Amino acid sequence: MYHSEINQDNICAISTPAGYGGVAIIRISGKDSISIVNSIFTRDIINATGYTLKFGTIKHENLEIDQVMVSIYRSPKSFTGEDVVEIACHGSIYIQHKIIEILHEKKVRLAKAGEFSQRAFLNGKMDLTQTEAVADLIYAKSESAHQIALNQMKGSFTNELSMLRDKLIELASLVELELDFAEEDVDFADKSQLKMLIDEIITRLIDLKQSFSYGNAIKNGVPVVIIGKPNAGKSTLLNKIIKEERALVSNIPGTTRDTIEESFVIEGIEFRFIDTAGIRDTIDTVEKMGVNRSLEMAKKASILIYLYDASEINNKEVENDILNFKKNGIPIITIANKIDLIQKNNLLGDLHISANNLNDVEMVKKHILKLFLKIGETYEGTILTNSRHLEAINLCLSDLNKVKEGLINNTSGEFLAMDIRQSLHQLGTITGEISTEELLGNIFANFCIGK
Ligand code: GDP
Repeated sequence: MYHSEINQDNICAISTPAGYGGVAIIRISGKDSISIVNSIFTRDIINATGYTLKFGTIKHENLEIDQVMVSIYRSPKSFTGEDVVEIACHGSIYIQHKIIEILHEKKVRLAKAGEFSQRAFLNGKMDLTQTEAVADLIYAKSESAHQIALNQMKGSFTNELSMLRDKLIELASLVELELDFAEEDVDFADKSQLKMLIDEIITRLIDLKQSFSYGNAIKNGVPVVIIGKPNAGKSTLLNKIIKEERALVSNIPGTTRDTIEESFVIEGIEFRFIDTAGIRDTIDTVEKMGVNRSLEMAKKASILIYLYDASEINNKEVENDILNFKKNGIPIITIANKIDLIQKNNLLGDLHISANNLNDVEMVKKHILKLFLKIGETYEGTILTNSRHLEAINLCLSDLNKVKEGLINNTSGEFLAMDIRQSLHQLGTITGEISTEELLGNIFANFCIGK
């Protein structure tokens, strides 16, 4: 990997969250980081070996600032690949800012968002998918999101991409071999072999592409939309589910006709339950907006729960509603509610419950989890979670589809080779082998300061 412009100035930032805390960590990276910290520290760290820790005092113009622990990392064995010093000070806002101010006087520049990670990437410590995984790891709220980020950070996606890359290079070389010998009228590359290879690559890319909605759901919470007519018991069911679990967020404000969203974790997976306004034909425009919104929300769900009041609604109506929602192709769980009020036994639906009964609520949760895990079984290996990667995979697929068409239509090898090279380029943008200032700027700008 070659990058011409590696910035060599010294940067610093508070790497711990803003505000008070037991300790705060200030990170400094750059070729002078050790000598600069040495000049404000009571201990001599100029010759300290990497991976050592020194206890001492930060002093500036005879003013004692704080007693701190200083960790020393020597290039290239550091997060950024440069010399890095981390000062663990007491987490007072005054101390944190004072140390930053002193460093600033010593010509250490304040790091931009994600600049440490950017340097790690530029110095070849990690590829782009791995630096992005660091960000995901920090934001992961559930065990499953954490696992995906961890695997990606450890290089699972990098390995998968390098396998795909090898296959594409094999494809390119077979096509180019044919080019070299074209004048001699020898058909070197067996067309069926080429087609098999390209089909294999396309299939894997499609798998990756399809894993995105699952991966994205795991990363940002699985959207479960509860739909059904007013008074079906949607809010009751949602409240009962939430009561059992630790609610992480409660946002999307609005009127009772708006949607309400609650996130919480069931067995390591974060679900975002979305309660929508009731669905019914209405002339009330405000309510109509609510209804339209439920239909819109339903389209974005990974799982739909259709809840109906079994004491009120007949099977014909239920069938009609389900038919409408099945059009979206989203897995749907049909639940008959309020069975405590009736004595029917020919009820439609996957589950028959009373939302007031905690055992029934437990059964609903188990069912949701089981359904989601079943969706996940389809995806083996790497799961895509990043929309930037999805975009590159889509572009790569469209290049390869052109190659496939070209093979069928006997397009000249030169054109095929061009499209294959273009598809390799798309894959290269994922890992960062091929990158532009603009692309890197966009990616790292979304990282937090100090990372
Ligand atoms: P929503 O409009 O779909 O959100 O419905 P609500 O959750 O507000 O419920 C409407 C009414 O039905 C409330 O009075 C609930 O107490 C009641 N309800 C909900 N679930 C059940 C149930 O399983 N059995 C009985 N008997 N009443 C229920």
